[in-house]
Amino acid sequence: MVSPIPQRGGVTIIGAGFGGICMGLKLRRAGIPFTILEKGDRVGGVWRDNTYPGAACDIPSHLYSYSFEPSHDWSRKYGTQPEIQSYLDHCAQRYGVAQHIRFGEEVRRADFDSAAGHWHLTLAGGDEVVSPFLVAATGQLSLPADPTFPGLELFDGKVFHSARWDHDYDLRGKRVAVIGTGASAIQFVPQIAQRVAQLHVFQRSAPYVLPKPDRPYTRLEKYLYRHFPAMLASTRTRQYVYHEARVLPLTKGIGVTAVEKAWERYFHAQIADERLRSILRPDYPIGCKRVLISNDWYSALNRDNVEVIPAGLGEVKPHRVVGVDGSERHVDAIIFGTGFSTTEFLAPMSIIGRHGRELHDVWRERGGAEAFKGVAMPGFPNMFLLYGPNTNLGHNSIVYMLESQTDYVLEALRHAATHGARWLDVRPEAHREFNDELQDRLKKTVWQAGCDSWYVTEAGKNTNNWPSFTFDYRRQTRFFDPVHYLTDSEYRPEAALAGGNQP
Ligand code: NAP
Repeated sequence: MVSPIPQRGGVTIIGAGFGGICMGLKLRRAGIPFTILEKGDRVGGVWRDNTYPGAACDIPSHLYSYSFEPSHDWSRKYGTQPEIQSYLDHCAQRYGVAQHIRFGEEVRRADFDSAAGHWHLTLAGGDEVVSPFLVAATGQLSLPADPTFPGLELFDGKVFHSARWDHDYDLRGKRVAVIGTGASAIQFVPQIAQRVAQLHVFQRSAPYVLPKPDRPYTRLEKYLYRHFPAMLASTRTRQYVYHEARVLPLTKGIGVTAVEKAWERYFHAQIADERLRSILRPDYPIGCKRVLISNDWYSALNRDNVEVIPAGLGEVKPHRVVGVDGSERHVDAIIFGTGFSTTEFLAPMSIIGRHGRELHDVWRERGGAEAFKGVAMPGFPNMFLLYGPNTNLGHNSIVYMLESQTDYVLEALRHAATHGARWLDVRPEAHREFNDELQDRLKKTVWQAGCDSWYVTEAGKNTNNWPSFTFDYRRQTRFFDPVHYLTDSEYRPEAALAGGNQP
Protein backbone atom coordinates (compact mmCIF):
# COMPACT_ATOMS: atom_id res chain seq x y z
CA MET A 1 0.00 0.00 0.00
CA VAL A 2 1.34 3.42 -0.89
CA SER A 3 1.16 5.77 2.09
CA PRO A 4 0.85 9.52 1.86
CA ILE A 5 4.03 11.51 1.76
CA PRO A 6 5.01 14.56 3.79
CA GLN A 7 3.74 17.61 1.92
CA ARG A 8 5.67 20.35 3.63
CA GLY A 9 8.96 19.75 1.93
CA GLY A 10 11.36 16.94 2.15
CA VAL A 11 14.06 15.21 4.01
CA THR A 12 17.70 16.21 4.28
CA ILE A 13 20.15 13.36 4.68
CA ILE A 14 23.67 14.04 5.90
CA GLY A 15 26.19 11.68 4.35
CA ALA A 16 26.21 9.49 1.23
CA GLY A 17 27.68 6.27 2.56
CA PHE A 18 25.88 2.93 2.89
CA GLY A 19 23.26 4.49 5.20
CA GLY A 20 22.60 7.70 3.28
CA ILE A 21 22.29 5.94 -0.07
CA CYS A 22 19.92 3.37 1.41
CA MET A 23 17.74 6.10 2.94
CA GLY A 24 17.78 8.06 -0.33
CA LEU A 25 16.67 5.20 -2.49
CA LYS A 26 13.86 4.26 -0.12
CA LEU A 27 12.61 7.86 -0.04
CA ARG A 28 12.81 7.99 -3.80
CA ARG A 29 10.76 4.81 -4.12
CA ALA A 30 8.20 6.27 -1.71
CA GLY A 31 8.04 9.51 -3.69
CA ILE A 32 9.31 11.62 -0.81
CA PRO A 33 11.52 14.54 -1.86
CA PHE A 34 15.00 14.53 -0.38
CA THR A 35 18.48 15.96 -0.67
CA ILE A 36 21.71 14.39 0.48
CA LEU A 37 24.40 16.75 1.74
CA GLU A 38 27.78 15.07 1.39
CA LYS A 39 30.99 16.74 2.49
CA GLY A 40 33.16 14.64 0.14
CA ASP A 41 33.27 14.63 -3.63
CA ARG A 42 31.97 11.11 -4.10
CA VAL A 43 29.60 8.65 -2.46
CA GLY A 44 30.96 5.85 -0.29
CA GLY A 45 31.55 7.26 3.20
CA VAL A 46 34.18 5.24 5.02
CA TRP A 47 34.72 3.14 1.90
CA ARG A 48 35.62 6.26 -0.04
CA ASP A 49 37.93 7.51 2.71
CA ASN A 50 39.74 4.30 3.68
CA THR A 51 41.90 3.56 0.66
CA TYR A 52 44.90 2.23 2.55
CA PRO A 53 46.70 -0.77 1.03
CA GLY A 54 44.82 -3.99 1.77
CA ALA A 55 41.56 -2.25 2.79
CA ALA A 56 38.82 -4.84 2.67
CA CYS A 57 35.72 -5.89 4.54
CA ASP A 58 35.72 -8.44 7.33
CA ILE A 59 32.15 -9.48 6.55
CA PRO A 60 31.53 -11.48 3.33
CA SER A 61 30.27 -9.26 0.53
CA HIS A 62 27.19 -11.30 -0.35
CA LEU A 63 26.08 -10.36 3.16
CA TYR A 64 27.69 -6.93 3.30
CA SER A 65 25.46 -5.59 0.51
CA TYR A 66 21.86 -4.41 0.24
CA SER A 67 19.28 -7.19 0.29
CA PHE A 68 17.53 -5.58 -2.70
CA GLU A 69 20.71 -5.24 -4.74
CA PRO A 70 22.63 -8.50 -4.58
CA SER A 71 25.76 -8.52 -6.68
CA HIS A 72 26.98 -11.63 -8.41
CA ASP A 73 30.23 -9.97 -9.43
CA TRP A 74 32.25 -10.00 -6.22
CA SER A 75 35.71 -11.18 -7.17
CA ARG A 76 36.23 -12.83 -3.81
CA LYS A 77 34.38 -13.73 -0.63
CA TYR A 78 35.47 -10.63 1.31
CA GLY A 79 35.19 -7.62 -0.97
CA THR A 80 38.06 -5.18 -1.24
CA GLN A 81 37.69 -1.42 -0.83
CA PRO A 82 37.71 -0.64 -4.60
CA GLU A 83 34.99 -3.24 -5.23
CA ILE A 84 32.80 -1.99 -2.39
CA GLN A 85 33.28 1.59 -3.55
CA SER A 86 32.18 0.72 -7.08
CA TYR A 87 29.21 -1.23 -5.68
CA LEU A 88 28.08 1.93 -3.86
CA ASP A 89 28.70 4.10 -6.96
CA HIS A 90 26.55 1.64 -8.89
CA CYS A 91 23.72 1.65 -6.31
CA ALA A 92 23.64 5.47 -6.15
CA GLN A 93 23.30 5.61 -9.95
CA ARG A 94 20.97 2.68 -10.44
CA TYR A 95 18.44 3.85 -7.88
CA GLY A 96 18.48 7.48 -8.96
CA VAL A 97 20.01 8.71 -5.71
CA ALA A 98 23.08 10.34 -7.25
CA GLN A 99 21.19 13.30 -8.71
CA HIS A 100 19.88 14.19 -5.24
CA ILE A 101 23.36 14.60 -3.76
CA ARG A 102 25.03 17.96 -3.20
CA PHE A 103 28.72 17.18 -2.91
CA GLY A 104 31.22 19.34 -1.03
CA GLU A 105 28.58 20.41 1.49
CA GLU A 106 29.51 19.98 5.12
CA VAL A 107 26.82 20.59 7.73
CA ARG A 108 28.25 22.56 10.65
CA ARG A 109 25.16 23.19 12.69
CA ALA A 110 21.49 22.18 12.86
CA ASP A 111 18.85 24.12 14.85
CA PHE A 112 15.32 22.92 15.33
CA ASP A 113 12.71 25.65 14.97
CA SER A 114 9.77 24.47 17.09
CA ALA A 115 7.36 27.14 15.86
CA ALA A 116 7.96 26.35 12.21
CA GLY A 117 8.55 22.63 12.83
CA HIS A 118 11.68 22.35 10.78
CA TRP A 119 15.45 22.06 10.96
CA HIS A 120 17.63 24.96 10.00
CA LEU A 121 21.02 23.79 8.76
CA THR A 122 24.14 25.91 8.48
CA LEU A 123 26.71 24.63 6.00
CA ALA A 124 30.47 25.16 6.10
CA GLY A 125 30.33 27.28 2.96
CA GLY A 126 27.80 29.63 4.61
CA ASP A 127 24.67 28.34 2.85
CA GLU A 128 21.57 27.67 4.90
CA VAL A 129 19.09 24.88 4.33
CA VAL A 130 15.64 24.51 5.82
CA SER A 131 14.26 21.01 6.07
CA PRO A 132 11.35 19.51 8.01
CA PHE A 133 13.13 16.21 8.52
CA LEU A 134 16.76 15.41 9.10
CA VAL A 135 18.47 12.03 8.76
CA ALA A 136 22.05 11.93 10.02
CA ALA A 137 23.83 9.12 8.19
CA THR A 138 27.33 9.97 9.33
CA GLY A 139 27.87 6.65 11.11
CA GLN A 140 30.30 5.73 13.85
CA LEU A 141 33.62 5.57 12.00
CA SER A 142 33.80 8.73 9.93
CA LEU A 143 35.95 10.96 12.12
CA PRO A 144 39.57 9.76 12.30
CA ALA A 145 41.08 9.91 15.78
CA ASP A 146 44.17 12.04 15.29
CA PRO A 147 46.00 11.56 18.55
CA THR A 148 48.12 14.41 19.76
CA PHE A 149 51.57 13.54 21.04
CA PRO A 150 54.16 15.80 22.56
CA GLY A 151 56.51 16.91 19.79
CA LEU A 152 54.43 15.63 16.86
CA GLU A 153 54.41 19.06 15.23
CA LEU A 154 58.23 19.04 15.26
CA PHE A 155 58.52 15.73 13.42
CA ASP A 156 60.64 16.18 10.33
CA GLY A 157 59.08 13.43 8.23
CA LYS A 158 55.79 12.23 6.79
CA VAL A 159 52.74 11.77 9.03
CA PHE A 160 49.30 10.51 8.03
CA HIS A 161 46.31 8.57 9.32
CA SER A 162 45.27 5.28 7.73
CA ALA A 163 41.89 6.79 6.80
CA ARG A 164 43.68 9.59 4.89
CA TRP A 165 46.35 7.52 3.21
CA ASP A 166 48.91 9.52 1.24
CA HIS A 167 49.32 7.48 -1.92
CA ASP A 168 51.84 9.98 -3.30
CA TYR A 169 54.28 9.19 -0.53
CA ASP A 170 56.61 6.41 -1.65
CA LEU A 171 57.20 4.06 1.28
CA ARG A 172 59.85 2.05 -0.51
CA GLY A 173 63.07 1.88 1.48
CA LYS A 174 61.68 4.02 4.33
CA ARG A 175 61.82 3.47 8.09
CA VAL A 176 58.24 3.63 9.23
CA ALA A 177 56.45 3.66 12.58
CA VAL A 178 52.88 2.34 12.68
CA ILE A 179 50.85 3.35 15.71
CA GLY A 180 48.07 0.93 16.58
CA THR A 181 47.19 -2.69 15.90
CA GLY A 182 43.45 -2.51 15.20
CA ALA A 183 41.30 -3.61 12.26
CA SER A 184 42.93 -1.15 9.84
CA ALA A 185 46.56 -1.73 10.87
CA ILE A 186 46.28 -5.50 10.56
CA GLN A 187 45.23 -4.98 6.95
CA PHE A 188 47.82 -2.43 5.82
CA VAL A 189 50.87 -3.58 7.82
CA PRO A 190 51.29 -6.85 5.84
CA GLN A 191 51.02 -4.86 2.60
CA ILE A 192 53.60 -2.21 3.40
CA ALA A 193 55.96 -4.54 5.28
CA GLN A 194 57.19 -5.85 1.94
CA ARG A 195 58.04 -2.36 0.71
CA VAL A 196 59.58 -0.52 3.61
CA ALA A 197 63.14 -0.90 4.87
CA GLN A 198 62.08 -1.16 8.49
CA LEU A 199 58.71 -1.20 10.22
CA HIS A 200 58.24 -0.45 13.92
CA VAL A 201 54.74 -1.36 15.08
CA PHE A 202 53.73 0.31 18.34
CA GLN A 203 51.22 -2.00 19.97
CA ARG A 204 49.38 -0.64 22.99
CA SER A 205 47.31 -3.79 23.31
CA ALA A 206 47.45 -6.99 21.30
CA PRO A 207 44.44 -7.98 19.19
CA TYR A 208 43.03 -11.50 18.86
CA VAL A 209 43.45 -12.40 15.19
CA LEU A 210 41.78 -15.42 13.62
CA PRO A 211 42.27 -16.72 10.06
CA LYS A 212 40.16 -15.06 7.36
CA PRO A 213 38.28 -17.69 5.35
CA ASP A 214 38.77 -15.68 2.18
CA ARG A 215 39.32 -16.83 -1.39
CA PRO A 216 38.62 -15.64 -4.93
CA TYR A 217 35.38 -16.83 -6.50
CA THR A 218 35.91 -19.12 -9.47
CA ARG A 219 34.49 -18.28 -12.90
CA LEU A 220 32.03 -21.13 -12.49
CA GLU A 221 30.76 -19.74 -9.16
CA LYS A 222 30.35 -16.29 -10.67
CA TYR A 223 28.50 -17.80 -13.63
CA LEU A 224 26.17 -19.71 -11.30
CA TYR A 225 25.59 -16.62 -9.12
CA ARG A 226 24.75 -14.62 -12.24
CA HIS A 227 22.34 -17.13 -13.74
CA PHE A 228 20.85 -18.75 -10.65
CA PRO A 229 19.76 -16.03 -8.23
CA ALA A 230 18.54 -18.71 -5.83
CA MET A 231 22.14 -19.74 -5.34
CA LEU A 232 23.11 -16.19 -4.47
CA ALA A 233 20.23 -15.98 -2.02
CA SER A 234 21.15 -19.25 -0.40
CA THR A 235 24.80 -18.16 0.05
CA ARG A 236 23.62 -14.96 1.67
CA THR A 237 21.24 -16.81 3.99
CA ARG A 238 23.94 -19.27 5.01
CA GLN A 239 26.36 -16.46 5.73
CA TYR A 240 23.71 -14.55 7.66
CA VAL A 241 22.90 -17.51 9.91
CA TYR A 242 26.58 -18.25 10.55
CA HIS A 243 27.37 -14.63 11.43
CA GLU A 244 24.27 -14.25 13.54
CA ALA A 245 25.40 -17.16 15.72
CA ARG A 246 28.63 -15.28 16.45
CA VAL A 247 26.74 -13.00 18.82
CA LEU A 248 26.40 -15.86 21.34
CA PRO A 249 30.01 -15.89 22.60
CA LEU A 250 29.97 -12.09 22.83
CA THR A 251 26.73 -11.63 24.70
CA LYS A 252 26.09 -14.93 26.45
CA GLY A 253 29.50 -16.56 26.69
CA ILE A 254 28.25 -19.54 24.66
CA GLY A 255 31.02 -21.15 22.62
CA VAL A 256 33.79 -18.93 23.96
CA THR A 257 36.07 -21.87 24.75
CA ALA A 258 35.88 -23.11 21.15
CA VAL A 259 36.81 -19.65 19.82
CA GLU A 260 39.68 -19.36 22.31
CA LYS A 261 41.01 -22.77 21.28
CA ALA A 262 40.77 -21.88 17.58
CA TRP A 263 42.76 -18.70 18.24
CA GLU A 264 45.34 -20.54 20.37
CA ARG A 265 45.92 -23.14 17.63
CA TYR A 266 46.29 -20.49 14.92
CA PHE A 267 48.51 -18.30 17.09
CA HIS A 268 50.89 -21.17 17.91
CA ALA A 269 51.05 -22.28 14.30
CA GLN A 270 51.85 -18.75 13.15
CA ILE A 271 54.24 -17.48 15.82
CA ALA A 272 57.09 -19.80 16.77
CA ASP A 273 59.24 -17.35 18.70
CA GLU A 274 58.43 -17.41 22.43
CA ARG A 275 59.38 -13.79 23.01
CA LEU A 276 57.16 -12.61 20.16
CA ARG A 277 54.37 -14.83 21.45
CA SER A 278 54.52 -13.19 24.84
CA ILE A 279 54.27 -9.76 23.20
CA LEU A 280 51.39 -10.74 20.91
CA ARG A 281 49.31 -12.57 23.49
CA PRO A 282 46.30 -10.40 24.42
CA ASP A 283 45.76 -9.76 28.13
CA TYR A 284 41.96 -9.45 28.06
CA PRO A 285 39.09 -11.85 27.32
CA ILE A 286 38.51 -12.70 23.69
CA GLY A 287 35.77 -10.54 22.16
CA CYS A 288 36.18 -7.63 24.58
CA LYS A 289 37.71 -5.71 21.67
CA ARG A 290 36.69 -6.55 18.11
CA VAL A 291 38.04 -9.98 17.08
CA LEU A 292 40.01 -9.48 13.88
CA ILE A 293 40.54 -11.77 10.91
CA SER A 294 43.64 -11.89 8.75
CA ASN A 295 45.79 -14.47 7.01
CA ASP A 296 48.93 -12.38 6.87
CA TRP A 297 49.10 -10.30 10.08
CA TYR A 298 51.09 -12.74 12.20
CA SER A 299 53.34 -13.77 9.31
CA ALA A 300 54.12 -10.08 8.63
CA LEU A 301 55.22 -9.69 12.24
CA ASN A 302 57.63 -12.60 11.78
CA ARG A 303 59.53 -10.70 9.09
CA ASP A 304 63.09 -9.59 9.80
CA ASN A 305 62.32 -5.97 8.91
CA VAL A 306 59.31 -5.78 11.24
CA GLU A 307 59.50 -5.12 14.96
CA VAL A 308 56.63 -5.01 17.44
CA ILE A 309 57.16 -2.61 20.32
CA PRO A 310 54.76 -3.54 23.12
CA ALA A 311 53.98 0.04 24.07
CA GLY A 312 51.90 2.97 22.96
CA LEU A 313 53.57 5.97 21.40
CA GLY A 314 54.63 8.47 24.05
CA GLU A 315 56.49 11.26 22.32
CA VAL A 316 57.81 12.35 18.95
CA LYS A 317 61.16 14.01 18.22
CA PRO A 318 62.19 15.57 14.90
CA HIS A 319 63.47 12.24 13.51
CA ARG A 320 62.42 9.78 16.16
CA VAL A 321 59.44 8.18 17.83
CA VAL A 322 59.54 7.33 21.52
CA GLY A 323 57.36 4.65 23.11
CA VAL A 324 55.85 5.08 26.56
CA ASP A 325 58.37 2.42 27.64
CA GLY A 326 61.19 4.79 26.60
CA SER A 327 62.23 2.85 23.47
CA GLU A 328 63.31 5.21 20.67
CA ARG A 329 63.39 4.55 16.94
CA HIS A 330 64.69 6.65 14.07
CA VAL A 331 61.95 6.88 11.41
CA ASP A 332 61.09 8.68 8.16
CA ALA A 333 57.32 8.36 8.48
CA ILE A 334 54.61 7.80 11.08
CA ILE A 335 51.32 6.16 10.10
CA PHE A 336 48.49 6.39 12.59
CA GLY A 337 46.28 3.31 12.61
CA THR A 338 44.61 4.72 15.70
CA GLY A 339 41.00 4.40 14.60
CA PHE A 340 38.15 6.84 14.93
CA SER A 341 36.39 9.12 17.38
CA THR A 342 33.74 6.48 17.74
CA THR A 343 31.86 7.68 20.80
CA GLU A 344 31.54 11.27 19.51
CA PHE A 345 28.45 10.67 17.43
CA LEU A 346 27.65 13.44 14.93
CA ALA A 347 30.80 15.37 15.86
CA PRO A 348 31.91 17.96 14.94
CA MET A 349 28.38 19.12 14.09
CA SER A 350 26.46 21.16 16.61
CA ILE A 351 22.83 20.04 16.96
CA ILE A 352 20.41 22.29 18.87
CA GLY A 353 17.08 20.75 19.78
CA ARG A 354 13.60 21.85 20.77
CA HIS A 355 14.55 23.28 24.15
CA GLY A 356 17.69 25.02 22.93
CA ARG A 357 19.86 22.18 24.25
CA GLU A 358 22.95 21.06 22.40
CA LEU A 359 22.84 17.33 21.72
CA HIS A 360 26.41 16.66 22.82
CA ASP A 361 25.76 18.44 26.13
CA VAL A 362 22.72 16.21 26.69
CA TRP A 363 24.75 13.11 25.90
CA ARG A 364 27.62 14.25 28.12
CA GLU A 365 25.22 14.57 31.07
CA ARG A 366 24.13 10.99 30.45
CA GLY A 367 27.65 9.62 30.37
CA GLY A 368 27.70 9.16 26.60
CA ALA A 369 25.54 8.98 23.50
CA GLU A 370 22.25 7.11 23.47
CA ALA A 371 19.13 7.06 21.35
CA PHE A 372 15.77 5.35 21.21
CA LYS A 373 16.39 2.21 19.12
CA GLY A 374 19.62 3.96 18.09
CA VAL A 375 17.53 6.25 15.89
CA ALA A 376 15.79 9.09 17.79
CA MET A 377 16.55 11.40 20.72
CA PRO A 378 13.95 13.14 22.93
CA GLY A 379 14.03 16.90 22.45
CA PHE A 380 15.38 16.55 18.91
CA PRO A 381 12.20 16.10 16.87
CA ASN A 382 12.17 15.01 13.25
CA MET A 383 15.78 13.94 13.47
CA PHE A 384 16.77 10.34 12.86
CA LEU A 385 20.16 8.70 13.11
CA LEU A 386 21.43 5.85 10.98
CA TYR A 387 24.13 3.61 12.49
CA GLY A 388 23.52 5.66 15.62
CA PRO A 389 24.28 4.81 19.26
CA ASN A 390 24.28 1.10 20.13
CA THR A 391 23.66 -0.17 16.63
CA ASN A 392 27.20 -1.33 15.87
CA LEU A 393 27.82 -5.07 15.64
CA GLY A 394 30.67 -7.33 16.60
CA HIS A 395 29.24 -10.25 14.69
CA ASN A 396 27.22 -9.47 11.57
CA SER A 397 26.63 -7.06 8.68
CA ILE A 398 25.86 -3.45 9.53
CA VAL A 399 24.03 -3.15 6.20
CA TYR A 400 21.27 -5.33 7.65
CA MET A 401 20.93 -2.89 10.56
CA LEU A 402 20.82 0.07 8.18
CA GLU A 403 17.99 -1.49 6.21
CA SER A 404 16.01 -1.95 9.45
CA GLN A 405 16.63 1.68 10.40
CA THR A 406 15.74 3.17 7.02
CA ASP A 407 12.45 1.24 6.98
CA TYR A 408 11.67 2.52 10.46
CA VAL A 409 12.40 6.13 9.48
CA LEU A 410 10.19 5.76 6.42
CA GLU A 411 7.33 4.57 8.61
CA ALA A 412 7.86 7.54 10.93
CA LEU A 413 7.65 9.95 7.99
CA ARG A 414 4.50 8.28 6.75
CA HIS A 415 2.96 8.53 10.17
CA ALA A 416 3.75 12.26 10.35
CA ALA A 417 2.25 12.79 6.90
CA THR A 418 -0.87 10.76 7.61
CA HIS A 419 -1.58 12.61 10.85
CA GLY A 420 -0.56 16.05 9.66
CA ALA A 421 2.02 16.26 12.43
CA ARG A 422 4.63 18.95 11.99
CA TRP A 423 6.94 17.10 14.24
CA LEU A 424 7.51 13.83 16.03
CA ASP A 425 9.57 13.68 19.17
CA VAL A 426 10.34 10.42 20.95
CA ARG A 427 8.89 10.38 24.47
CA PRO A 428 11.53 10.58 27.20
CA GLU A 429 9.98 7.68 29.10
CA ALA A 430 10.09 5.40 26.02
CA HIS A 431 13.68 6.45 25.44
CA ARG A 432 14.62 5.85 29.09
CA GLU A 433 13.00 2.43 29.26
CA PHE A 434 14.67 1.32 26.03
CA ASN A 435 18.11 2.51 27.11
CA ASP A 436 17.91 1.20 30.67
CA GLU A 437 17.11 -2.23 29.36
CA LEU A 438 19.81 -1.97 26.72
CA GLN A 439 22.48 -1.00 29.26
CA ASP A 440 21.37 -3.86 31.54
CA ARG A 441 21.90 -6.29 28.69
CA LEU A 442 25.25 -4.74 27.80
CA LYS A 443 26.50 -5.22 31.35
CA LYS A 444 26.35 -8.98 30.79
CA THR A 445 28.42 -8.91 27.59
CA VAL A 446 32.13 -9.48 27.12
CA TRP A 447 32.50 -5.84 25.98
CA GLN A 448 32.15 -4.80 29.64
CA ALA A 449 34.78 -7.30 30.77
CA GLY A 450 37.23 -4.57 31.67
CA CYS A 451 39.25 -3.79 28.53
CA ASP A 452 39.44 -0.38 26.90
CA SER A 453 37.76 -0.44 23.52
CA TRP A 454 36.24 1.96 21.05
CA TYR A 455 32.79 0.79 22.16
CA VAL A 456 33.03 2.17 25.68
CA THR A 457 33.41 5.76 26.88
CA GLU A 458 35.85 6.80 29.57
CA ALA A 459 32.89 6.81 31.95
CA GLY A 460 32.40 3.11 31.19
CA LYS A 461 29.21 3.36 29.14
CA ASN A 462 28.96 1.23 26.01
CA THR A 463 27.60 3.71 23.47
CA ASN A 464 28.24 1.68 20.36
CA ASN A 465 27.19 -1.94 20.37
CA TRP A 466 23.92 -3.75 19.91
CA PRO A 467 23.89 -6.62 22.42
CA SER A 468 21.66 -9.08 20.63
CA PHE A 469 20.74 -10.73 17.36
CA THR A 470 20.19 -8.48 14.37
CA PHE A 471 16.80 -10.10 13.77
CA ASP A 472 15.86 -8.97 17.27
CA TYR A 473 16.74 -5.40 16.26
CA ARG A 474 14.70 -5.81 13.09
CA ARG A 475 11.75 -7.06 15.13
CA GLN A 476 11.99 -3.98 17.35
CA THR A 477 12.16 -1.58 14.41
CA ARG A 478 9.77 -3.35 12.05
CA PHE A 479 6.83 -1.15 13.00
CA PHE A 480 6.78 2.50 13.90
CA ASP A 481 4.70 2.64 17.07
CA PRO A 482 3.27 6.16 17.52
CA VAL A 483 2.77 5.42 21.22
CA HIS A 484 6.48 6.07 21.65
CA TYR A 485 6.25 9.55 20.14
CA LEU A 486 4.88 12.93 20.99
CA THR A 487 3.60 15.13 18.18
CA ASP A 488 3.29 18.91 18.03
CA SER A 489 -0.49 18.67 18.29
CA GLU A 490 -0.17 16.95 21.69
CA TYR A 491 2.58 19.11 23.08
CA ARG A 492 1.81 21.38 26.04
CA PRO A 493 4.54 23.94 26.66
CA GLU A 494 3.59 24.29 30.35
CA ALA A 495 4.36 20.58 30.92
CA ALA A 496 7.77 21.00 29.34
CA LEU A 497 8.47 24.04 31.48
CA ALA A 498 7.49 22.06 34.55
CA GLY A 499 10.24 19.58 33.67
CA GLY A 500 8.08 17.06 31.84
CA ASN A 501 7.46 16.54 28.21
CA GLN A 502 4.16 14.81 28.50
CA PRO A 503 1.12 15.48 26.43
P1 NAP B 1 40.71 0.51 16.09
O1 NAP B 1 40.26 -0.87 15.89
O2 NAP B 1 40.05 1.38 17.08
O3 NAP B 1 42.25 0.42 16.39
C1 NAP B 1 42.97 1.53 16.82
C2 NAP B 1 44.32 1.02 17.28
O4 NAP B 1 45.09 2.15 17.63
C3 NAP B 1 44.23 0.14 18.52
O5 NAP B 1 45.20 -0.86 18.42
C4 NAP B 1 44.57 1.12 19.64
O6 NAP B 1 45.11 0.52 20.76
C5 NAP B 1 45.60 1.95 18.94
N1 NAP B 1 45.80 3.25 19.54
C6 NAP B 1 44.90 4.23 19.71
N2 NAP B 1 45.47 5.29 20.30
C7 NAP B 1 46.77 4.94 20.51
C8 NAP B 1 47.88 5.57 21.09
N3 NAP B 1 47.76 6.80 21.60
N4 NAP B 1 49.08 4.91 21.13
C9 NAP B 1 49.18 3.67 20.61
N5 NAP B 1 48.16 3.01 20.07
C10 NAP B 1 46.98 3.64 20.02
O7 NAP B 1 40.69 1.35 14.73
P2 NAP B 1 40.72 0.82 13.25
O8 NAP B 1 41.77 -0.22 13.12
O9 NAP B 1 40.79 1.95 12.32
O10 NAP B 1 39.32 0.12 13.11
C11 NAP B 1 38.15 0.75 13.61
C12 NAP B 1 36.95 -0.03 13.23
O11 NAP B 1 36.73 0.19 11.86
C13 NAP B 1 37.05 -1.54 13.33
O12 NAP B 1 36.89 -2.08 14.58
C14 NAP B 1 35.99 -1.97 12.36
O13 NAP B 1 34.72 -1.95 12.93
C15 NAP B 1 36.15 -0.91 11.32
N6 NAP B 1 36.98 -1.46 10.28
C16 NAP B 1 36.43 -2.44 9.58
C17 NAP B 1 37.15 -3.04 8.63
C18 NAP B 1 36.49 -4.11 7.91
O14 NAP B 1 37.14 -5.02 7.53
N7 NAP B 1 35.17 -4.04 7.71
C19 NAP B 1 38.45 -2.65 8.35
C20 NAP B 1 39.00 -1.62 9.08
C21 NAP B 1 38.25 -1.03 10.05
P3 NAP B 1 44.17 0.01 21.96
O15 NAP B 1 43.54 -1.25 21.45
O16 NAP B 1 45.08 -0.21 23.10
O17 NAP B 1 43.17 1.09 22.21
